[in-house]
Amino acid sequence: MKITAAKGTRDILPGEVEVWQRVEQTAHRLFSLYGVQEIRTPIFESTDLFAKSTGSDTDIVIKEMYTFPDRSNRSLTLRPEGTPGVVRAAIENSLLRRGEIDRFYYIGPMFRYERPQKGRYRQFSQIGVEVFGSSHPAIDAEVMEMANSLFTSLGIIGARLQLNSVGHPGCRPAYRQALKDALEPHRAELCSDCQRRLDVNPLRIFDCKVPGCGVIRANAPVILDYLCAECVTHFDGVKECLDTLGVSYDLNPRLVRGLDYYTRTTFEVVSDKLGAQNALCGGGRYDDLVASMGGPQTPGFGFAIGADRLVMIVAELHRHAAPADIYIVHLGAPALKEALVASRVLRELGLAVRLDPDAKEVGKQMARASAWGARYALIIGEREMEKGAYAVKNLAAGTQREVAARAWDEIRREVVNGG
Ligand code: AMP
Repeated sequence: MKITAAKGTRDILPGEVEVWQRVEQTAHRLFSLYGVQEIRTPIFESTDLFAKSTGSDTDIVIKEMYTFPDRSNRSLTLRPEGTPGVVRAAIENSLLRRGEIDRFYYIGPMFRYERPQKGRYRQFSQIGVEVFGSSHPAIDAEVMEMANSLFTSLGIIGARLQLNSVGHPGCRPAYRQALKDALEPHRAELCSDCQRRLDVNPLRIFDCKVPGCGVIRANAPVILDYLCAECVTHFDGVKECLDTLGVSYDLNPRLVRGLDYYTRTTFEVVSDKLGAQNALCGGGRYDDLVASMGGPQTPGFGFAIGADRLVMIVAELHRHAAPADIYIVHLGAPALKEALVASRVLRELGLAVRLDPDAKEVGKQMARASAWGARYALIIGEREMEKGAYAVKNLAAGTQREVAARAWDEIRREVVNGG
């Protein structure tokens, strides 16, 4: 009998592994710029951990966990998500320092018994970040900006940030009642799960994927209209900081994420390059989770990116692109002329050069550099033109240095020998 991989699992083969390595290395490098340190927690934990933190009436805990007794009859569960393990480890190892902001990230496999399809597996991998110790809205914005930066560093453009606030537990009773009152007349039209949710935890109705329930939900009241004054102020602060950081977002008042612990900000990043399973990243604030798990009262904010989906997009970006040695970033019309000269000379010297005359913003050009798999960027801006210099950036190392304009041999040597 031929034995095949278990349903919902797959092998990542040579050829594909290189894309995973690239994604992981980009994450390691980027997160270190934000002072975020890696943590590795066990792949199985005691079942209670997830029942208590993820939430005993969430779909994940009720329907999706791989739970089994070990040989001593302890109930263990393959982790379905990363946050509970990180919080447990942070408490158990006294990693949370009073008055400090502690930042951790993890990369690794998660397990959920879901119906497999493209982009949805029973074993999948997440890249997650958890930041503890501050409830300042600037932290929410900074962490979301970090997720965004990972996508742009990998050459992904067009991923959209959807933003909501679910308030704090004090905002919920009035909203829960309003939701119940609005949905009760439609009880019979809801699926059996949602009928149960209506009694137990009506907010969970927003997680339901049954189309009929979506239609009924569309006219339900939204939690944004029920936030208390402090939660409104916090949410305004988050939006203001995102604006300051230049991160664009769409408000989605129906974004109520399927885990119990979120307070205030929740968000998702969706990509139109993914098909039906379009969520690339999800996260939010969890100010009560650490205390509820027996730790000191410590606010938190985190996210998890679906690495399988990220790899899918990155692999597709590179499928059409012959890798480039150097990408020329130009700013302004005179710089474009100089860039044209540079591309001709550097090609004569044997380098694979890319230049996008249409792209105007630096961020977009950097994303294109990454999409072309360029190892170096040659930056020719207005300031550089005035100084008679270019900047040469090693994209893998993230280092940058100045060279004299038209020092072609020096640039070639750096690209050939340096990286
Ligand atoms: P969640 O913890 O459910 O918000 O998941 C965070 C991210 O992990 C999602 O946005 C997806 O990108 C990814 N993800 C969740 N479940 C799966 C799965 N079964 N297969 C692949 N990726 C997943």
